[in-house]
Amino acid sequence: MPDTQDERWMREAIALALTKGSDPSDTPIAAFIVRDGKVLAARCNETEETCDATAHAEIVAMRAAGAAIGDMELRGATLYSTLQPCGMCTMASIWSKVGRIVFGAGRDDVHPMYFEDRQIDTVDFIRDAWRDDLSIEGGVLAAECAKLYYGPDDDVPVEEQGNI
Ligand SMILES: [Zn+2]
Repeated sequence: MPDTQDERWMREAIALALTKGSDPSDTPIAAFIVRDGKVLAARCNETEETCDATAHAEIVAMRAAGAAIGDMELRGATLYSTLQPCGMCTMASIWSKVGRIVFGAGRDDVHPMYFEDRQIDTVDFIRDAWRDDLSIEGGVLAAECAKLYYGPDDDVPVEEQGNI
């Protein structure tokens, strides 16, 4: 069961995501990086705003956290994301040395457009990583997070499907 701290930070992440809007087309995805109860960074997806396909909430948060503490390594920190991190963000998490990844809505809760691979689940990236000090957990406030995104069976306009 997720502990109350996880739910607390996920609620904050949901609130931050909603600052972008409540429609899935607003890409309301947010990430918090927290260590010892202190927020190192809290950011939203900025891909449209910055014309940068890599500006996912998790990546932007990792950059901000590193700059804030003057260290690219975020050991001991937890990355919270309202949506299961994509492959890029999962790999970046491995390199960033965060200790935990906690996400809200998972791959099966949302439309496939949020993931680049048909079969590979990013949870498997973590399972297969060299690092043994990294964990990933999903499902924290999953239903609330999933409401922010297109559902598995939604008819999403092709131009909004960023993975194709
Ligand atoms: Zn991502």
